[in-house]
Amino acid sequence: MVLSMVDQHKPKCYLCNETFEDIEELRKHQDITHKEFIEYHKNSHEHSPAPGDVTVF
Ligand SMILES: [Zn+2]
Repeated sequence: MVLSMVDQHKPKCYLCNETFEDIEELRKHQDITHKEFIEYHKNSHEHSPAPGDVTVF
């Protein structure tokens, strides 16, 4: 059975459920509309090793 997948094919913002033509549009949208949310997650990500803390594997 084939359903219309057109809408699901487009990238969707998981924060406000808006759909965008392509991933670039979505990124731009999140960068502007959800700036604080993105920044918050970036910061929580930086809890791991500091930039100067070099680990050799
Ligand atoms: Zn959004």
